[in-house]
This record gives sequence, structure tokens and C-alpha cells, in this order.
Amino acid sequence: MPLTQTAKSSTYQSYALHNFKGIPQISKLNDEQRRDIEIVSQVLPFKSNNYVVDELINWNRVPDDPIFTLTFPRREMLTDTHYALMKQAMDTGRSKDEIKKVANSIRKELNPHPAGQLEHNVPMIEEHKLTGMQHKYRETVLFFPSQGQTCHAYCSFCFRWPQFVGMDEWKFAMRETELLIKYLQTHKEVTDLLFTGGDPMIMKNKIFANYIDAILEADIPHLQTIRIGTKALGYWPYKFITDDDADDTLRTFEKIVRHGKNLAIMAHFNHPVELSTEAVKTAIKRILQTGAQIRTQSPVMKNINAHPDIWAAMWRQQVNLNCIPYYMFVARDTGAQHYFKVPLVEAWEIFRKAYQQVSGVCRTVRGPSMSAMPGKIQILGISETGGKKIMTLRFLQGRNPDWAARPFFAEFDDKAAWLNDLKPAFGEEQFFFEEELKTF
Ligand SMILES: *Cc1c(COP(=O)(O)O)cnc(C)c1O
Ligand code: SF4
Repeated sequence: MPLTQTAKSSTYQSYALHNFKGIPQISKLNDEQRRDIEIVSQVLPFKSNNYVVDELINWNRVPDDPIFTLTFPRREMLTDTHYALMKQAMDTGRSKDEIKKVANSIRKELNPHPAGQLEHNVPMIEEHKLTGMQHKYRETVLFFPSQGQTCHAYCSFCFRWPQFVGMDEWKFAMRETELLIKYLQTHKEVTDLLFTGGDPMIMKNKIFANYIDAILEADIPHLQTIRIGTKALGYWPYKFITDDDADDTLRTFEKIVRHGKNLAIMAHFNHPVELSTEAVKTAIKRILQTGAQIRTQSPVMKNINAHPDIWAAMWRQQVNLNCIPYYMFVARDTGAQHYFKVPLVEAWEIFRKAYQQVSGVCRTVRGPSMSAMPGKIQILGISETGGKKIMTLRFLQGRNPDWAARPFFAEFDDKAAWLNDLKPAFGEEQFFFEEELKTF
């Protein structure tokens, strides 16, 4: 990549509904496609930036380009009914408020907290509800810093969007570090703290370092790992190279490592293109120099990465750059899932065929995995027994820690795309965890 281009895009330029027509390459779209962006983005929030537009999207392949699909809304991302509703509201010149009402009613139907995240998993300390935290699996606490609840660009498949569009009753977020630290100190079973969002790497280092300093100063011996879930390497690698606070952010990473904590950057990459630019390679190098690890994860999605060769290439490239492949997820049953969904059997085929192409160093990856109500559930495979096909699954993480690593069986169903589509095999009434799940 020529340096001039790197220099050009290192100044962050955000694109959203109000200014996307100013994107030079947007002339590659026809009037209808542009109108559809306006209609669909009422419901699915749209945000992109100059790095994504100039360095990642191949505009000669638009609208089929995977990264275009990843950040630009399109007609097919709404169901016919929802699209018609939204289009009618806009074509008939309704007021802003009325349009918002229609959009919000559609959003409610899109099931924004499918794994019961809002009501469940929110920890308490004394009588305080810690709404900026989730504690679902024994070892790991999720922390949603309030200033990290947006991203450098938005994924069209994202299930976290209520956090971006101001539907207040759905927001997680917590300002106080004090309660977080108190919670960690009293919960000795917690070894991992995971900063998540949104994207915590949207935070300026000044704010991020405040959280980190307080946590390190509290000196919590059982806290071993600090993880940061981020898409910044995919959407804005300049965060770690040329942004004002790039060096300071890396110094904060170093400080975590110096305190003897494992620092794991949980990086979201959805397609190998995101690993191809000079900018991302430089950013990865700089992060690794701090002593941090980078682990990678992504959902498998139709129209973006639903092919084994794409995954094999992505894992290889990650390992070449010294990153550690970690999870392949199944896309959640939310938002534009009808557009992205890959049935479980097909997801497993993609996983298997990709896994078979790579060596052991890439096989640190686990999947395909559903983050469902009872836990993270991996599809282990399809087998035949007694002349009948069955699906074998197992828990990678369980709401009850004792469920982890337990296999269980479902009737073969090549249309099933989520746990609740599956039936227990061998004529059982329920899966082994269902009775106990009711008690949580
Ligand atoms: C995935 C996840 C974690 C982390 O699980 P690991 O398997 O340790 O990576 C923690 N909490 C929630 C709610 C999760 O979905
Ligand atoms: S980066 Fe993550 S949180 Fe942000 S829009 Fe994409 S999937 Fe959602």
C-alpha cells in the first residue's frame, strides 16, 4: 500500500446517514440502492468510515463485496413486511417522530437481547444492580464502560445496536469503577475481566487508563487476565498507529503486562481482507510489542464469510501475524439474521472443511459456537447411529460451570439455525440442562 494512501486515511472521517452521499465511491450505487440505505438505516444504524471505504471495500465488487455488506445497509436486511412499512413511512413524508416510532416498533420485533442478557446475568452488590456488568460464566465478568458503547463503524449483523440508537431501557453501561472493583474483590472465583461494548477501543486513552489504573491499583490477586473485545483492528487500526493517543494506549497495555496480568485483545475479524492492509499489520505488530496477546473471533455469516476457504485463509493469515484464532460463532437470532443466517449443519461443514485445510497452529479455534441462554454451545458434528443421523453438541461454557465440556445429542435438522430449533435425540423430552436452566 502506498504511504500516501495510509497518510490520507489516517485522519478519521465518519460516514453516517446524513453524509454518506458525500462518499466519492457512492456513485457506484444506483438510485434505488442509495434510497435503500436511507430506508434500512432508520432501523439498523449505519456508520462507516474512510478506512473501511478507501482501504477495505473493493468498489468494483459492490454490492457483493463482503466489507460493503458488512457496514452498508441494504434492502434485503429487512424482511419484506418491515421494509414496506419503513418505506411507506418515508415515502409519505411522515414527521421525524413518526418515522422514529415506526423504526422503534420494528426494532422491538428484531429481538435485541436474545440470550436474555438484559434480565439475567446482571450482578448485584449490596442492593445495587450493576447494570454496566454481566456475570454469566463463573470465571469471567463482562464490563461495559459507558464511554465505550459505540464503534468506529457498525456491523450490519450486530446485536448490540440498541446500545447505539438510544433505546434507553435497553442500555447497559456503568460509569463507576468503584462498584466494579468492589465486585471483583468480593468474587474470588473471577479470573477474567472482559471490557466490551460497543468497542472499548473507541475510548480515548485518558478514560481507558483511568479504569485500568484503578483496577491495577486495587491489586486484585485472583484477577489474572484483562481482555478487551474490539473491532478497532478491523475498522480503525490507526487507533494504534497515528491517532493522538495511539502511543499512550500502548503504554497502558504495557502497564497491564508489567503488573503481571495477561492482556488479551479479543479482536473481531470477519474477513481476510481486514488482515491485508499495511495499517492493520503495523497495528498488530505494535500491540504485540507491548506484551499483549491477540485472539481472534467472528460469526459465520452468509453474504460475508460463509465459505471454508475464507476461514482457512483468515486463520492462516492471523497465525502469520502472530494472532491466535479463538472462536467461530453462529450468528445470533436477532436483527438481520434472516439475511446472514447459516444453518447449524452448514456452519459445521464450513468449520470442518476449513479446519481440515490448516495445521495445528490454527486449530486453537473452537466452533461453530452459539452464545445461547444456557451457555456457549459448540456443534461438534453429525454422526450416524442405528441408521439415524444425529447432531452432537457440547458446552464450551455453561451457566452452570459443571455443564462445560459435556456432550449432548439432537435430532438431525439441516434447517435449524439456533438452539431453540433443535429437538433432543433418541425421543428424549428435554435436553439434560433444561430443567435446571429454569432455576436460573
Ligand atoms: C463468551 C463469553 C465470555 C467468555 O467466554 P470464554 O469462553 O472464556 O472466552 C464471558 N461471558 C459471556 C457472557 C460470554 O458470552
Ligand atoms: S464492532 Fe462489534 S459491537 Fe460494534 S457494530 Fe460491529 S459487532 Fe457490533
